[in-house]
Amino acid sequence: MDPHKLPPEVWEALCRRCGKCCAEKVDLDGTIYITKKMCRFLDTKTRQCTVYADRYRAEPDCLATMEGLPMMVFPADCPYTKGITAYEPPVEEWDDPAVDDAIRELLGDDAA
Ligand code: SF4
Ligand code: SF4
Repeated sequence: MDPHKLPPEVWEALCRRCGKCCAEKVDLDGTIYITKKMCRFLDTKTRQCTVYADRYRAEPDCLATMEGLPMMVFPADCPYTKGITAYEPPVEEWDDPAVDDAIRELLGDDAA
């Protein structure tokens, strides 16, 4: 079933609370990488947003699901990506010191 046609409460329940969409992403030459740097409002133990009801005001870079999906910033295993043809998820794992260096340069040492 296409998850995008589900009722709101069912749609919301699809989220596994992995928190990966709350990690900072970087675009390096057209490839998007999910970094280790999490949004400051993510509780890293519960993987829940601590400002959920007010998230767009608290963090202007926070994207609604329907904004982030076309930008392909949700990970491959995120249920919301299912049913989207030609979805190209961001890279979550790599073995390339040059990518690590670029991420550190952009976001700091704890991001790679
Ligand atoms: S990546 Fe998907 S499943 Fe994980 S927290 Fe974000 S919306 Fe939920
Ligand atoms: S403000 Fe947005 S990006 Fe930050 S933790 Fe909350 S939902 Fe995630």
